[in-house]
Amino acid sequence: AAKGGGGNACHFFDDTLERRRAQRMDIEAGLRRALAQGQLRLVYQPQVAAGDGRLVGVEALLRWDRPGHGVVPPDQFIPLAEATGLILPIGEWVLRAACLQLAAWRDAGLPPLRMAVNVAARQLNDVDFVSRVVAVLEETETPPGNLELEITESQLMEKMHTGLDNLKRLRELGVAVAVDDFGTGYSSLGRVQSLPIDRIKIDKSFVADLNVSGDSYAIAHAIVAMALALRLEVIAEGVEHAEQAHLLAGIQCHEFQGYLYGEPQPPEAIAAMLQQLQKGQAS
Ligand code: C2E
Ligand code: MG
Ligand code: MG
Ligand code: MG
Repeated sequence: AAKGGGGNACHFFDDTLERRRAQRMDIEAGLRRALAQGQLRLVYQPQVAAGDGRLVGVEALLRWDRPGHGVVPPDQFIPLAEATGLILPIGEWVLRAACLQLAAWRDAGLPPLRMAVNVAARQLNDVDFVSRVVAVLEETETPPGNLELEITESQLMEKMHTGLDNLKRLRELGVAVAVDDFGTGYSSLGRVQSLPIDRIKIDKSFVADLNVSGDSYAIAHAIVAMALALRLEVIAEGVEHAEQAHLLAGIQCHEFQGYLYGEPQPPEAIAAMLQQLQKGQAS
C-alpha cells in the first residue's frame, strides 16, 4: 500500500509506526512500575502423569494485573521485556516467586511437586544466570530436583555458548531442563541428542488437531519415538479433549498439560489438589 507513495499512504504509515513506538514505551514504563509495585503474579497449570492422571508438576505462568487494563497475558509483554532487558529482573522475580510458592506448599505440609519455570534466552545467556538460580534455590531452601527450567526449542537452536554451558552446570546441580514448544523449531535428531535436557514438550499446535490419520499425529508420534530413543521424558501441552489424551497415551507420551486437566490457576487451587493427592496416598 505504501508503494504508490501517495501523501496519505505515507502519512498513515508514519502514524502507525509512531503509535506503535508510543505503545511500546507505554508498556515498558508500565512494566517497570509493575515490578516495583507488585502487579505481577504467577498462576500454575497442572501437569499430570499419563498413566493415572496423578499431579506430578505445575508450570508457573506470568500474569500482569495492570491497573486500568485488567489482566495482561505474557504474550503481550514478554517480547518487549526481552527486547528491553527488563526480562532479567522480571525473570528473576518469577524464579523467586515460584520457589517461594514451593516453600509455602512445603511449609503447609503438602507433598513435593515439580515446578517448571519459563526462561528467556536473554536470561539463560547471562553469565550470572547459574549463580542467580543457585542463590534463589538456597534462599528458598528449594531442592534443585524440584525445579525445571523451560527453554523454547527455537531459542535452543540459536548459537548460545554461555546458555548451553549454564544449562549443563545447572543440570549437574540437579535442576531439570525441558524444551518448550518442541516441533516448531526445526531441530535435527543429532542436535537434540547433544543438548543438556531432560524433557521435551510437544507444542500445542500438534495436539490441537490430533487425529489418527493426520500429519500432526504422525509428527507427535515421531517426536515421542525420538524422545524415548534418547531416553528423554515427553509431555504434551495444550491437551483439551479426552480423545487427544487417548491418542497421546497410545503413542507412549508420559505426561499431559492442558485445559482438560486444569487451566493455569492461583496457588490455593493447586494446594487443594495437593491435599486431595495426600488424602489419596494416606488411605
Ligand atoms: P508456554 O510456556 O508454551 O505456555 C503454554 C501456554 O499455553 C500458556 O499461555 C497456557 O496458558 C496455554 N495453555 C495451557 N493449556 C492450554 C490448552 O489446553 N489449550 C490452549 N489453547 N492453550 C493452553 P500463557 O500463560 O498465555 O503464556 C504464553 C507464553 O508466555 C508461554 O508459553 C511462555 O512462552 C510465555 N511465558 C509465560 N510466563 C513466562 C515467564 O515467566 N517467563 C517467560 N520468559 N515467558 C513466559
Ligand atoms: Mg512453557
Ligand atoms: Mg509451550
Ligand atoms: Mg509457547
